Parts: sequence; structure tokens; C-alpha cells
Amino acid sequence: MKKFLPTSIVGSLPKPAWLAPPEKLWSPWKLEGDQLIEGKQDALRISLQEQHLAGVDIISDGEQTRQHFVTTFIEHLSGVDFENRKTVRIRDRYDANVPMVVDEVARQKSVFVDDAKFLRTLTKKPIKWALPGPMTMVDTLYDNHYKSREKLAWEFAKALNEEARELQDAGVDIIQFDEPAFNVFFDEVNDWGMAVLEKAIEGLKCQTAVHICYGYGIQANNDWKKTLGSEWRQYEEIFPKIQKSNIDIVSLECHNSKVPLNLIELVRGKKVMVGAIDVATNSIETPEEVADTLRKTLKFVDIENLYPSTNCGMAPLARNVARGKLSALSAGAEIIRKEFGM
Ligand SMILES: [Zn+2]
Repeated sequence: MKKFLPTSIVGSLPKPAWLAPPEKLWSPWKLEGDQLIEGKQDALRISLQEQHLAGVDIISDGEQTRQHFVTTFIEHLSGVDFENRKTVRIRDRYDANVPMVVDEVARQKSVFVDDAKFLRTLTKKPIKWALPGPMTMVDTLYDNHYKSREKLAWEFAKALNEEARELQDAGVDIIQFDEPAFNVFFDEVNDWGMAVLEKAIEGLKCQTAVHICYGYGIQANNDWKKTLGSEWRQYEEIFPKIQKSNIDIVSLECHNSKVPLNLIELVRGKKVMVGAIDVATNSIETPEEVADTLRKTLKFVDIENLYPSTNCGMAPLARNVARGKLSALSAGAEIIRKEFGM
């Protein structure tokens, strides 16, 4: 029988301190060589077990094998110079020292396929795998070759499509593209961003998702949110385009955000991963708080399309906080299932 309200995380979980120093982004690996490979696999096993114990229904790798959700994918492409970095402003918000595109970009080898195969051997539950979206990739490096965000995004989409097809063949059930940049560059989304994302999912038979959030719970994002006013209506600009697309699932930020929930109506017909866990606070939601957020969204999404989730990745959080939030997510979803006799 199909389980209603299948829970999942957006993607990342905190890494163990013996693998990489916790509570920061781009945290450097503490191991190297074969020990690093083994350490990553052990961390992936732990992240899987934590999801199993918390009763999460759709399993992710917790991004334990990648240093960063965008950079690690880019590292595997040719045409990108990681030695000569440039400082750019990411999503018009914070500066980061990023690699430079110096030649045509191409995917010479698979990036996460071995990790996905490994995870597939460890669980019978559905697996969701996150990849960066093309527009967000463009926004996370300096382009000294194409000199066109659209052209570069198109090349990234081709590489992502190759990777996605192999992930699908490795047994991944849902492939999710993380596009926080969609919440900033609306005109580009409508001009070419969505078309490029369609290229990334071309030919896939597994389910596809796009994750659009207000970012990790880091200071720069929290400061930015304070400038967005009393209602965050960014989704309104892009949801009509997404509603018409071939993407199956839309992952969005709800809990503790100022997103008017009626905007979800704009993607009616899609499955919606509703963020019912705030990743920008260390306080752990109660199951009733999670249930309350889910209940409110049910006016705008049919219950068979409601996928309870987190607002974003939990990489920057403390591990015990992330564990508590996982359990709250499951318990909150269960409250709603009971209410509906499921
Ligand atoms: Zn996010």
C-alpha cells in the first residue's frame, strides 16, 4: 500500500566531527586517501541509520561524501580551474572564493554514481539524490570562457543530465535539483532557467524534483531574509513557469518563513515537498508544530501530493539538533496521517 505523506530531508545532514569539522560550509576533510573513502562511506552508513531510526521514508545520502552541494559536482568537470580562484558575490548576497571556468566544461567521469550504488545496497526504501541546479552552479563560480550565464548553464545541464541518467540506472528513485538561485533571478528563470532545467531532466523516467529555498541557516542568508519584508512572494514569480514544466516535485520553504502558503496553489498538480522543519534555528520543532505547518498547506496541495520535508539542508547544524528535527518531522507527519485515518 502506498504510504501517504512520505517524509524526506532536502539533502544534507551534519557530518561526524572525525570526518570534517562540524557546523560550517566547505568544511575540509580530516582524512585522506583510502581512509577518506572509507570514512565517507562510514558517515553515509551513519546518516542512513539516523534516517531509518527517525522513520524517514525517502532516504538521502545526507551529502556525506561531498564537501559542498555545488562545488563537489563542479570539481569533477573539465574546463574549470580550481587553482586560480576568484571572489564572486553568490546570489547577490555573500562573497565566496570560487573556481574559474577557463575552457569548455564537460563531464569526463561520473560524480556520485558509485556513492548512489553503495547507498542502494544499504536500503530498500526509495532513494532521493540531490544535484545542484544549472543556474545555481553558474552562480557559484567565475566564468572566464563562455561569458554568458545562459550558455554556461546549458553546458552544465548537459553534464547534469548525463549524471542523472546514470544515477537513475543505479537505482535512484527521485533526482532533485537544488536551485536556490531561482529565488533571486526571476527574469532569468522565466527566460532560460526553467528551459535549462528541463534539459537536465530530459529522458529521465524516475521522479524529478526542484528545490527552491531561502538558503542554509547561515548568517548571510538570515540577514538577507530580514530585508525581504513581511511577505516573501518570490515563489509567485516562478511557480507559474514550474507548474507548466515536466518537473514532478517542488521542494519549498514553509515553516517559520514568511512565504504566504497560498502561493503553493500556483503549482497545483505537482507533488510538493513542504518544508516543515526550520534549518536556521537550533530549537527543535515539536511534532505538533510540524503537523500544524503541514495542515495549513493542505488547503493548497492535495494530500496524496504532500511530501513533508525540511526547509533546506541541515549540514550547518549540530548533529543532535539534526537528529531531533528528523524525529519531529516523522512524528508530525504521523499526526496528520492519523487525522486522515491513513
Ligand atoms: Zn535549500
